[in-house]
Amino acid sequence: MATPYQDRKLPDPMLNVGDERYFEAAGQGKLLLKKCNDCKEVHHFPRAICPFCFSTKLDWVEAKGTGTIYSYSVTRRAGPIPYCIAYVTLDEGISVLTNIVDCDLDTVKIGQKVKLTFKKTENGTSMPMFVLA
Ligand SMILES: [Zn+2]
Repeated sequence: MATPYQDRKLPDPMLNVGDERYFEAAGQGKLLLKKCNDCKEVHHFPRAICPFCFSTKLDWVEAKGTGTIYSYSVTRRAGPIPYCIAYVTLDEGISVLTNIVDCDLDTVKIGQKVKLTFKKTENGTSMPMFVLA
């Protein structure tokens, strides 16, 4: 059996104040993370306050765009088109909730190496997703 990846309509993200830079970079093919200048921890999705130490001294850093599948699920009942939702642990050490795209979804496995790609939402916003490396 195979479950070929098919593009589906992606909802537009809800923009919070401060997210502009993140989506601007995504449009240029870059995944940005936030790094705390006080505790040095990296996090995603970007927040205005460090989720580890509540510092507001945060800088944007660009992710390398490579990682490993930590967990995944192929969703077959949520809509007409199956898709693969996954937690990918980036090489920076943090996990992001994302989609695995452009492959036979039946070949996705925990521990596989993946790399960054982007898919556009309905209004043209680029969303970071991953392909098998
Ligand atoms: Zn911190």
